[in-house]
Amino acid sequence: MSARRGKVWLVGAGPGDPGLLTLKGARAIQHCDALVYDYLASQAIVDLAPPACERIYVGKKPGSHTLTQPEIAALMVQLALAGKRVVRLKGGDVFVFARGGEEAAALHAAGVPFEVVPGITSAFAAPAYAGIPVTHRDHNTSISISTGHEDPLKGHTSLDYAKLANPKSTTIFLMGMGNLAGIVGELRKNGLPETTPVAIVREGTRPTQETLVATLATIVAEVERAQFAAPAVVVIGDVVRERESIRWFDRSPLFGKRVLVTRPAAQAAEFAQQLWEAGAEPLVAPTIAIGTPDDAAGAWSAVARVREYAWIAFTSRNGVEAFFERLTAGGKDVRAFGNCKIAAIGAHTAAALAEHGVRADFVPDVFVNESLADGLVERTVAGNRVLLYRAQEGRDVLPKVLGKVGRAVDVVAGYKTSYVDDPELRAKAERADIVTFTSSSTVHGFVHNVADAPAVLARTTVAALGPITAATARAHGIRVDVVADEFTVEGLLAALEAGVTA
Ligand code: SAH
Repeated sequence: MSARRGKVWLVGAGPGDPGLLTLKGARAIQHCDALVYDYLASQAIVDLAPPACERIYVGKKPGSHTLTQPEIAALMVQLALAGKRVVRLKGGDVFVFARGGEEAAALHAAGVPFEVVPGITSAFAAPAYAGIPVTHRDHNTSISISTGHEDPLKGHTSLDYAKLANPKSTTIFLMGMGNLAGIVGELRKNGLPETTPVAIVREGTRPTQETLVATLATIVAEVERAQFAAPAVVVIGDVVRERESIRWFDRSPLFGKRVLVTRPAAQAAEFAQQLWEAGAEPLVAPTIAIGTPDDAAGAWSAVARVREYAWIAFTSRNGVEAFFERLTAGGKDVRAFGNCKIAAIGAHTAAALAEHGVRADFVPDVFVNESLADGLVERTVAGNRVLLYRAQEGRDVLPKVLGKVGRAVDVVAGYKTSYVDDPELRAKAERADIVTFTSSSTVHGFVHNVADAPAVLARTTVAALGPITAATARAHGIRVDVVADEFTVEGLLAALEAGVTA
């Protein structure tokens, strides 16, 4: 028997946007041995679990239960009794129409310790992301949240429609799509005015969010016409009128856009996060990976000898990371630079240096090799030695320009980029609205997988970081629509607004 006592955390995942998971929920997931989750949980949240964690999908799409409720409870008890830390992840809040109460009771009955980590319920978050405040002093003094699961037409509802038909209250239904006509009929019968606004928010807080606004009189026909389907939150009441001015999430220019991110996984996370926050759906598909260069010994010895140089130049964040990894592994720190000055090709490379406590002595105004080379010519004298620590497959601008004026440049490969084989890349690219390339190698890696890239990307917006990346894409026959100076959501937005610039 395991010495450790198992435990279960009942965690609310929130409504969809992974950013709406609580810090406590995230911590529980990051430390669990088993994750038992439903269909409403976002993949990005499931991905927070450690690699060794056992992930168990228990389904529960309406009408297609993968495991029954007693089976789910028994599974959790069994895992906990085996000494595991179990996270039971549920969409929204655990205790809002989620059978969390029954699961907690089953754990209690089996003597399994548990904690409850509430989540943000879709009942409030979906309206909020649609620009509908669930209370507003001009409109209502109370809210009700009901399940629409019970069909009032079949005569066995326990809902008090006379009370729900209160125009001074906001009435919210979860699981209300199946019985919408019945619900609306009962509210009308009980005197709620026909003109009362109704909003239905489906897939709330996700890039796929859609909102349908109508009135009590027209909503059923509108849903029919738009083929609006679950999961959706139904909001009934005057607060819906506020959407007109408060609407925000689905106004973002990137809202609903699927953006393919081809850069290496380690650097994709931050950009992907920003995309989520802008209402876009990141499709992370690294086309290249960063690895050890062929001449590993050379990469190590250059780090050890860095103080012998007048300047060291970094042309990428990867180069900086490769350098510091070796520096640290060699038991050294920034003092190893001695009097060697440090150049960075651009803001991102300089930021990577800053993360290691190093301020670059020179960053050119234009982030290309040519500007870096010219700047170094100005800052050095004949006979100076310059170390270029870069990718194995980098360009030779720097040694050429500096060599011509008598500087000795050692070009050292700090890392190598290799192509990632991704049989699903084509399908992902076909789904994307915008495809992003951050470097020439990401383009090469893409073409490596998708030989007919120009045809596949014919109807997709192609965004490249910097003119060199754009030129590489064009050399492969790929039409480039926008060139961004910076690969942040802000940079991408600015570039999209400016249109083709290079
Ligand atoms: N515990 C969940 C509710 C589970 S019941 C919560 O607190 O949110 C399932 C119902 O929740 C769905 O039928 C739908 O009405 C609603 N729902 C869940 N996620 C949703 C989302 N992202 N957008 C709209 N409705 C959602």
